[in-house]
Amino acid sequence: MGLRKEKIETYRKTLHLRREVLAADLRQATAQMINDESSYTDAVDQAAADTDRNFILQMKNRDRDVLWQIDEAIKRLNEGSFGECERCGESISEGRLEAFPLTTLCIDCKAELESEEHRFPGRN
Ligand SMILES: [Zn+2]
Repeated sequence: MGLRKEKIETYRKTLHLRREVLAADLRQATAQMINDESSYTDAVDQAAADTDRNFILQMKNRDRDVLWQIDEAIKRLNEGSFGECERCGESISEGRLEAFPLTTLCIDCKAELESEEHRFPGRN
């Protein structure tokens, strides 16, 4: 059972919008980092700048990961597999998709995987 066409268009719009916002953030963070390249005479300033840079780098990695997830979700929309659980093939509930449009797992599989992670902590 697939999603209705209008629903798919709504998800597509939402995902593209999120993608644009994230990509703009990433560009801005990169520009900010380049502007920060100026050398600091004060060691404290330098340390603060390094901390900022690490923070921005972490943020960028996370944003890139989300960007990748958005791209994958858009790909699934185009292929018509959006809304299917990649583990069991069942439809993911619309409520769950609306809350987490990037998810690839139905609530049951997600819960199962989480309890497995709980049983084998540290395994990833
Ligand atoms: Zn499933």
